[in-house]
Amino acid sequence: MIDLSKYTKELSKLFSSSENIVIICHINPDGDAIGSQLSLFHYLKSLGKNVDMIAPNNLQEFLKWMDGAELINVFIKERKKCRKIIEKADLIVMVDFNQSHRTGEAEESVIASHSRKIIIDHHPGSVNFADLTISEPSVSSTAELVHELVCDMTGMQFMTKPYAEALYVGIVTDTGNFEHGSYTSRTFRIVADLLDAGIEKEKILNRIYNNYSAERIRLQGYAVNKRMVVMPELRTAYIFLTKDDLKDYGYVKGDTEGFVNLPLSIKGINFSALFIEKENFIKLSFRSKGNFPTNEFAAQYFSGGGHLNASGGEYPDTLENTINRFMKGIKNNVWRFDDTV
Ligand code: 5GP
Ligand code: MN
Repeated sequence: MIDLSKYTKELSKLFSSSENIVIICHINPDGDAIGSQLSLFHYLKSLGKNVDMIAPNNLQEFLKWMDGAELINVFIKERKKCRKIIEKADLIVMVDFNQSHRTGEAEESVIASHSRKIIIDHHPGSVNFADLTISEPSVSSTAELVHELVCDMTGMQFMTKPYAEALYVGIVTDTGNFEHGSYTSRTFRIVADLLDAGIEKEKILNRIYNNYSAERIRLQGYAVNKRMVVMPELRTAYIFLTKDDLKDYGYVKGDTEGFVNLPLSIKGINFSALFIEKENFIKLSFRSKGNFPTNEFAAQYFSGGGHLNASGGEYPDTLENTINRFMKGIKNNVWRFDDTV
C-alpha cells in the first residue's frame, strides 16, 4: 500500500480550514472524473462543508443517474454562476487531471482565483499550479486514491451508499471493468468493502455498459467494418470516423466511447488509435498493450497526454493530415513496441 501520510496532514488542514470548497473535474468527464468528484463531494458534505461541483462541459448519459450528479454545475451552460462559485471558494480541489487547460473554459477563473488549490490525480506528469499536489500514477483510478486519502484521514472507513457507488463507478470505468493492468490487490480489497456497503453492482454495470442506443451499436459495426485500418507489420491499427459518418448514425456524445479498444483485441496489434473528426479539430485516442508509452507519443505529435497505455489529444488539422502525421510518428516509434505482449 502506498504511503499517503505525506499528503494527508496537509490535506486535513486545508479541508478543516476551508468553508466553501469547489471540486472541479476535467473536460469530457469520464466515469473516474465524476466518480472521484462525487465521492469527495459526499465525504466533504459529511464534514458539514459548503461544497460545489463544476464540470467544464456536459456529463454523458451513462453517468447522470449517479447520486449528486444533478448538483454538478456545467461551466459552458452556466458560465456566470460557475465563475461566481470559483470566485467565492476558499479551496479548489481538482480531480483526475494535472494540466490546467483540462478545465476547459473554466481555466481562466481557476488560474485567477486566489483560493488555495489541491490536485488529486493519478496521471503521470508534473504539476506546478496547486498548493498541494497529490499525484499517484500507480493507483488504478483517482476514485481509489480519494478513498485511500479519506481512509487515511478518518482513521476509519467513511462509507455511505452514494459514496461507495461513486467510488465503484470510478474504479470500474478506469480499469475497463478490471481488464486493464492498472488495478492491484488493494483495488480488490476496496471493491470488497464497496460490495459490503451494499452497492448494487449489476445495476451499476448495466447502467455503464448495457445502456447503449441501437445507433451506437450500428456505428460501432460500421467503424469496425468500414473505417478500421489494420497494419500488422507495424503492430498498429486505427479507426477513423468523419463528421458525416457520425451524422449518418445519429451520433450523440459518448457514442464512440470504447471504440479505441476494439483493434487492440486483434492478435499482434500493440497500438491502437481512434480519430474522430470534430468541427475544428480531430479528437484522438490512443491505447497500447505492453510498454509502448502512448502518452509520450500523444505529447510528442499531438500536444496530448494521459497514461502509459491510454492517452489522448486534439489536433487542429484535417483528418487526412492528422492521420499522415500519425503514420509518420508510428514509423519513427515502431522499434519501441514490445514483442512479448
Ligand atoms: P480517452 O481516449 O478516453 O478520451 O482518454 C484517455 C485518457 O487520455 C484520459 O483519461 C486522459 O488521461 C487522456 N487524455 C485524453 N484526451 C486528452 C487531451 O486532450 N489532453 C491530455 N493531456 N490528455 C488527454
Ligand atoms: Mn482517471
